[in-house]
Amino acid sequence: MSGHQYGMEPLVQLPAPGGFVVAVLRDELGLWLGSRRDSAESYGATLIEERRAVATSGPGWTAVGGPLPDRADRAVVRGPGGPVDAETANGAFIAVLAANEAGPAVRFEDDDGLLVRDPPRGESIADATDRCPACTALDWERAVEDCVRCRACGHTFRMPLFYGGQASTHGRWQHVQPDGLRFTRTLADQAADALRKAPGPVYAAPGSKPEIRGFGGSDDAISHVKLATGDIEVDTRFGTHELPEDSARAAVAQLTTDVAWPARSQPAIAIWLDARRREREEASANARPSAVEITVDGRPRIFTMITVGHTWAAACDGILVSGSGDVPPALHAYSGSTS
Ligand SMILES: [Zn+2]
Repeated sequence: MSGHQYGMEPLVQLPAPGGFVVAVLRDELGLWLGSRRDSAESYGATLIEERRAVATSGPGWTAVGGPLPDRADRAVVRGPGGPVDAETANGAFIAVLAANEAGPAVRFEDDDGLLVRDPPRGESIADATDRCPACTALDWERAVEDCVRCRACGHTFRMPLFYGGQASTHGRWQHVQPDGLRFTRTLADQAADALRKAPGPVYAAPGSKPEIRGFGGSDDAISHVKLATGDIEVDTRFGTHELPEDSARAAVAQLTTDVAWPARSQPAIAIWLDARRREREEASANARPSAVEITVDGRPRIFTMITVGHTWAAACDGILVSGSGDVPPALHAYSGSTS
């Protein structure tokens, strides 16, 4: 995001929930995707560069925008709630999805309804089994810069970083994880500091000694601390926070279930992982919220809960609890040392 504002010309814009305006803007550097409160004059904006679509999000919504290719008459963005027709004007498109969506997928159609795309140019990914989220074709290729691309519509996304070498190619199933956060000693010290400096109580589920799974903010202003007891995570957030339902949906969409990866080429695994992520996001976006009572430091409180399969997330006033299996009946403030 950038505060760069002056001389930005909106090409196409839409309102977004919560009093926001989103727009594709142009200035001398190129195209930007921006959002602002409708009372504010300036946009926070991201440079689109060569990408076909860029996303920006607010509480409970995601805007997806970019340049409209030559010959394209229509842009359709795949969202967790289904396909959304984008607004188009002045060589740009923008759509607002009523959910969080990390990887925008868009297809372009000409005025006959035919897909607008470039000809194939990479090696075919023959062992992919999941269809393109933008156009439903099953015709993927390896593109430049560690990307995979749909030959039918041009939808492109970057593969995650893999470690552990090449995935098994001889029929066995194995776990290969994307490179993730690994706590170093320094990070563990910072985490313990965050717990001490938190401006209010930090909650945890009862049971064994909790472990710090995440924290944010600066030394002077800790914004959240996430503690895990077994597979129950409690994220305590300070300051302004999202609506409980939005927090619960976003959290449950990110909960991964422990499924072994299939033995396929890395590009095919990238496609498979992206499809599973979309399934979780769609299930989360379409799940009905329910209410659950959890006692917090002795006081019963009503949490808004979103459930997808065995996983769930529940939020109330800056406390976000998530896990699988049983919901803990109580949370307590935790101040002790952590592992
Ligand atoms: Zn496609």
